[in-house]
Amino acid sequence: MSTEPQTGNAAAAGQPVVRLDKVNKHYGPLHVLQDINLEVAKGEVVVVLGPSGSGKSTLCRAINRLETIDDGEIYIDGKKLPEEGKQLANLRADVGMVFQSFNLFAHKSILENVTLGPIKVKGMKKAEADKLAMGLLERVGVANQKDKLPAQLSGGQQQRVAIARALAMRPKVMLFDEPTSALDPEMIQEVLDTMVGLTQEGMTMIVVTHEMGFARKAADRVVFMADGQIVEQAAPNEFFTNPQSERAKDFLGKLI
Ligand code: ADP
Ligand code: MG
Repeated sequence: MSTEPQTGNAAAAGQPVVRLDKVNKHYGPLHVLQDINLEVAKGEVVVVLGPSGSGKSTLCRAINRLETIDDGEIYIDGKKLPEEGKQLANLRADVGMVFQSFNLFAHKSILENVTLGPIKVKGMKKAEADKLAMGLLERVGVANQKDKLPAQLSGGQQQRVAIARALAMRPKVMLFDEPTSALDPEMIQEVLDTMVGLTQEGMTMIVVTHEMGFARKAADRVVFMADGQIVEQAAPNEFFTNPQSERAKDFLGKLI
């Protein structure tokens, strides 16, 4: 059992893009994050696994300061995540987040969904934002849907738009919290393929997922959480073939 931060394959040099240092959080009596230490190197893909309720979503939301923490520190690209204010908005723009529910703006076109952030948060000119957005929509394979409203797209297409929208802010790290869990089975693969594409382009990623195929194929490191703790972490091949903790063995044993 190891709770020490480990260095991934990509960590050859430089500071981690994400660093959590003894992060703790409670919800009332529930100690939902317990002394979480985690470093994610530039270009590294960390897949977070663990049973429901283990704190995976809380961890993601803490990294984006959608949740406050009780103590400990979180650094994005070496900068400490501040409590609030403009600095927080800037640092948050460095963290792209894709949720289980797509959270697209229902009354805006696909193109506008992607341009809104760059225009509003980064002050980008519309023409430039349109160009950037079209490139990203092309990259995720939905450029031909640009004038539609989100509800006119399939779940898989909407999730790919959500990925493009996050990328439009040029994040330093992308967080995915069960991005395929709400999708019909036939749409899961297209979203996973998009994510694999990102890993191949060197994007730094933290991915919470139940898609073990993705974890095996795309992860540099698996982080296994249970009851608010990082119970073990290892390269995927090692984790899946030789889990160390009883909790991980139990978790893997229940997978079909
Ligand atoms: P996971 O994503 O691994 O399923 P979560 O981070 O969503 O786990 O939740 C971890 C624990 O914290 C669960 O027991 C959950 O019920 C609890 N929890 C999550 N959000 C809140 C909240 N806003 N208030 C109180 N308890 C919460
Ligand atoms: Mg969750």
